[in-house]
Order: sequence, then structure tokens, then C-alpha cells
Amino acid sequence: MTNPILPGATLGVLGSGQLGRMFAIAARRLGYRVHIYSPDVDTPAGQVADQEFSAPYDDLEQLAEFARSVDVVTFEFENVPAAVTDCIQRHCPVYPSGYVLSVAQNRIREKSTLRDAGLAVPDFREVTSAEELHAAVSDLCVPSVVKSALGGYDGKGQAVVHHPDQVDEIWATLATEQAILEQFIDFECELSVVGARNSQGEFVHYGPFRNAHTNHILDVTVCPSGLPVDVNERAISAARRVFECLDVVGVLCVELFVTKEGQILINEIAPRPHNSGHLTIDAHKTCQFEQQVRAICGLPLGDAGQHADAAMANILGDLWNDADPCWQALLACDVKLHLYGKTEARVGRKMGHITALADSIMDADKAVRAARECLLNK
Ligand code: AMP
Repeated sequence: MTNPILPGATLGVLGSGQLGRMFAIAARRLGYRVHIYSPDVDTPAGQVADQEFSAPYDDLEQLAEFARSVDVVTFEFENVPAAVTDCIQRHCPVYPSGYVLSVAQNRIREKSTLRDAGLAVPDFREVTSAEELHAAVSDLCVPSVVKSALGGYDGKGQAVVHHPDQVDEIWATLATEQAILEQFIDFECELSVVGARNSQGEFVHYGPFRNAHTNHILDVTVCPSGLPVDVNERAISAARRVFECLDVVGVLCVELFVTKEGQILINEIAPRPHNSGHLTIDAHKTCQFEQQVRAICGLPLGDAGQHADAAMANILGDLWNDADPCWQALLACDVKLHLYGKTEARVGRKMGHITALADSIMDADKAVRAARECLLNK
């Protein structure tokens, strides 16, 4: 067993968005220093870090300098080439491992690995040409969902095939060399389980969280899920098996569909804290970001117990319209506001989130939605 990395040490993060920001806040509260690496400047994470390295991900010299300046590295953005983790690993440990990253980065590898480990995933086919997509669509039938194998998020790089006639146009629009065609799941709801595991094999989990999306972007999360105990337990047990079969050290989120028949299918995994876990900052004894610090440092994991029913609503750039949102109106509500320090508001861009605690998830859900509406007050 390696020695734990104790407060006072320096933690490195690849990626500089809001996940890195909330990680850095949790790490600094525990007395760590934080260095951030991304191609950008004045970033959400860089603003609250001790040092911001601004260089391209393929600048191996800068990466090595960054790696030499820290005791351990983790991710908030997982779509980095394998060469990046290889380079960093020569200087310090990286969690989750390059292997976990490589599985999560490619939707074909991800679904095949999970299926081969005996976990339930939607039926799928690999496609590398319009001809193969035609064949896969006639195999899996319509509707079905095609996604580029690499790089997609928040519904980007994917399309629903409603009719075989659409195949050529969809393939041309995807403009990819490798894609996955998945059976369309007419799900009852979407869940996620965020978990953390340290190098000693200790595992904790939250949720499941119940997630509602709008335009493929997470809109509102509630916890607890409000679903029957056996559904929750099966979701958690699927997540635990993902951690074990990939030997994950760090934080990882497993996104799941609950079908109308009550079956649990894994949609995808994200090898880092997740948007659905943001409510853990206000609603749980130890938040997902503190668990990430503890897990990558080889420390005991924190109590993941929940204080009260909770809901989280995302604040997207869409709310900026002509004027800034009315923060005073929101701050008069009994909710918690988290903003990510992004200077430019764009449609669909995650700018912040709101959390509410209440006696029921229904009340918490109402409270975050009502508070968000207040942002439109003139
Ligand atoms: P993903 O990028 O794979 O997380 O997909 C984004 C969203 O698209 C999911 O949260 C679902 O709402 C929807 N989606 C993805 N895959 C499927 C599927 N196979 N069947 C139905 N809906 C899907």
C-alpha cells in the first residue's frame, strides 16, 4: 500500500471547468495546494487554484513540468489523449488510471467492457460507415440512437434514427469514423450513482440520483430518487460492480436507465465527479469533491450520509438573454447558489447551479425551479 498524500501536499487537476473549481475548493478547505492544467486562462478552476498552467494538452514539456509540481493528478475533463496520462505517470500517480479513462473515452470500448463484465447495457452495434449503419439499423430497428464513439457529451455527436431513410444524412452530419448504434430505450427515468473508491478498496456511494434532462442537458436532479428500494439497490450494485471490474481509484459516475419493466441498464460512465452529484455539497455530510480528494490521496473516505431531501437545478447561459439574471431575487429564496466564475454566458453553457433542501423531494424540486424562475425577474 502506498503512503497517503497528506494535507499540505499539492494536487494536480487536468481540466479547468466547474468540476475542477469545486474540487479545488474542497481540497483547499482540507489544506492542500491545487495546480490546474488546461489550454485556457482565467478559468473556473484556475481562479480558485494556487497555480494555473495554461498550455495545450499535447505539450508534453509543460505537462511534465506540471506533473513535477504536484504529488498526484486527477481529472475533471477526461477526453485527453493516452500520451497525457503516460507522460504524467512518469512523475506522479494519476487517478483514475489511464485504463479507466480509455474505457470511458470510447463508447464502443465502454459498452463492450461493461457487457463483458456481465453488466446490462442497451443492445448496440459498432459502425464505421454509412453501409454499416444501414445494416445495424435494420438489425436493431428504429428508433435507435447513433452516437460518435469519441468525444460526445450533453447530447452532442448523437442523433435518433427514426427511419432508415435518414441514415445517410445522419452519418454525414456525424462526420465521424467510428460510432455506436444503440437500441432506443423508452425509459421510465434516468438515474446516476456517484461513487468513490480509494486504493485500499474502500467504497462509498451516493444516491441513486434521479435526473431530468432538457435538450439532452441535465436540468434537475433529486435525491433520494423516490423509486422503490429494490430499484435503488440494483442501481447501486451495478455501480459497485463497475468500480470493482475497472479497479477504479477516485470518483466515478454511472449513468443508468430504468426501463418501463424496471430493468436497470448502464448508459455511460464518467470517471470523475458528475453534475448530478453537485447537490452533495449542500445535502451530504461529505461532498463528491471531498471524496475525490480523499480517494486520490489514499485517505479514509467520508460519510456519504444525507442531511435532508434535496434537489439541484442547473443555471444555463440561456438565462442571460439581454440582461444579467436577477441574483437578488434568487438570493431572497431559501436555496444555495453556486456560480462557476464563467465570464461569457452562451446558450447551453453551464454557468452555475442551485440546491434546495426540504422535507420531500417534491418540495425541494419545486423550490429550485421557483428560485430559478426568479432569475428572470426584471
Ligand atoms: P449520453 O451522451 O449517452 O449520456 O446521452 C445523453 C442523453 O440522451 C441521455 O441522458 C438520454 O436522455 C438520451 N439517450 C442516450 N442514449 C439513449 C438510448 N439508447 N435510448 C434513449 N435515450 C438515450
